[in-house]
Amino acid sequence: MTHTPTPAEADIPALVARLRATFDSGRTKPLARRLDRLAALRALLTEQAEVFQQALAADLGKSATEAYRTEIGFVLNELDHTVAHLEEWLRPKPAAVPGFFQPAEAHVVRDPLGVVLVVAPWNYPLQLALAPLVGVLAAGNTAVVKPSELAPETSAAMARLLPRYLDPETVAVVEGAVPETTALLEQRFDHIFYTGNGAVGRIVMAAAARNLTPVTLELGGKSPVVVEPGADLAVTARRIAQGKFLNAGQTCVAPDYVLAIGESAAGLEKHLADAVREMYGDDPAASPEYGRIVNERHFDRLAALLDDGRTVTGGGHDRAARYLAPTVLADVSPDAAVMRAEIFGPILPIVAVPDLDAAIAFINERDKPLALYAFTESERTKRRLTEETSSGALSFGLPVSHLAMPELPFGGVGESGMGRYHGEYSIDTFSHTKAVVDKPLVDRPVADRPRA
Ligand code: NAD
Repeated sequence: MTHTPTPAEADIPALVARLRATFDSGRTKPLARRLDRLAALRALLTEQAEVFQQALAADLGKSATEAYRTEIGFVLNELDHTVAHLEEWLRPKPAAVPGFFQPAEAHVVRDPLGVVLVVAPWNYPLQLALAPLVGVLAAGNTAVVKPSELAPETSAAMARLLPRYLDPETVAVVEGAVPETTALLEQRFDHIFYTGNGAVGRIVMAAAARNLTPVTLELGGKSPVVVEPGADLAVTARRIAQGKFLNAGQTCVAPDYVLAIGESAAGLEKHLADAVREMYGDDPAASPEYGRIVNERHFDRLAALLDDGRTVTGGGHDRAARYLAPTVLADVSPDAAVMRAEIFGPILPIVAVPDLDAAIAFINERDKPLALYAFTESERTKRRLTEETSSGALSFGLPVSHLAMPELPFGGVGESGMGRYHGEYSIDTFSHTKAVVDKPLVDRPVADRPRA
């Protein structure tokens, strides 16, 4: 299907100017107006849930349940948490005033920034456009949302429906690909929030530098899973498989590969194969719960990795249907192509390592991951991984789910990104944290003043 992006590139400067005029009018700032906008976003998600579910099925073969759980319901959860706490988060926070400056008061307020650009990717095309938008609106800003052209149905649904619920002078959707995003990046924004790959992240940051615009870069990378002998391998395999094969592996925090310590490698193979069968039956192609690869380019990239190890389970694929079976590869060399870049698909390599020292060294020799997971019963191992590695997030016993805990910051470090959001962290990201001092215009006699 060919789809004409809206609006045209040439209209972008006027559109951004209108959003700036709205911000400058002050009407995005009062708490009541922010809550109205969040209520409108809530209405959009609940009343149009089915439309979005159909779009997500068309773009990514997502089942209605998965689409609700990881996209629509996810954003609602983020939104409800924000609504419940927003007043408290926006309350000025008192700060202590050193004796020398007394009498005086000081506090910290969160000022909205202005016009925020949100650029979203295709893998969770609704969640990754609208969860940032919750924070942008809650913090009192206006926004341009640029959905991914690689999820065209979801992009079109957002462009069509958002203006019905949210004033287009406050939130504008700009559809399109590189030309439209490039035109957007030529405008001055007060914050740019980008989710996607590091190559484009660099383009975004360079464009932002021209106007000293702060950026949040939510990027990806290879998120390892460390498995120690002694961990319950059936539970471990089930949880790894659930995190890995969700959305056919196209999840930024999906377990990318397993570092299996000692004898855990052999045991894990059988349990991973069992877990895949439990989740999707003997023929995952027939399971309504199993997704599809977003497009042929990504399908071809993934199919080329299938011979990089011994197949434990999976390997089947069908280009016309963009189907690639949940696949586990064993005896994978650290130098194999599948170990060189983020997989971002349903292929799980197992790399055997002799001990925890080797696992930690393996992780630290590579880019800092967006997430690190470990399955272990050892508190010492947990402490060592916490203290001796650096990653966006660290989770023991449960991959992916930290993303859905709105009191936790979500973001990367190093090559996996910069900045963080969700819940109160979004308010921090989309506000300026301003220092305010208030000293009465009455001087005390010099003799009464405390000495510094
Ligand atoms: P993508 O191709 O949809 O690109 C993301 C956005 O960048 C799109 O809106 C696209 O239009 C825009 N874009 C593409 N090329 C551009 C260019 N030359 N100039 C300006 N804008 C451009 O998505 P992707 O990058 O393939 O997404 C996958 C990556 O995103 C993976 O690495 C994944 O790990 C990462 N990711 C991270 C998170 C996170 O929250 N940290 C979430 C999802 C995905």
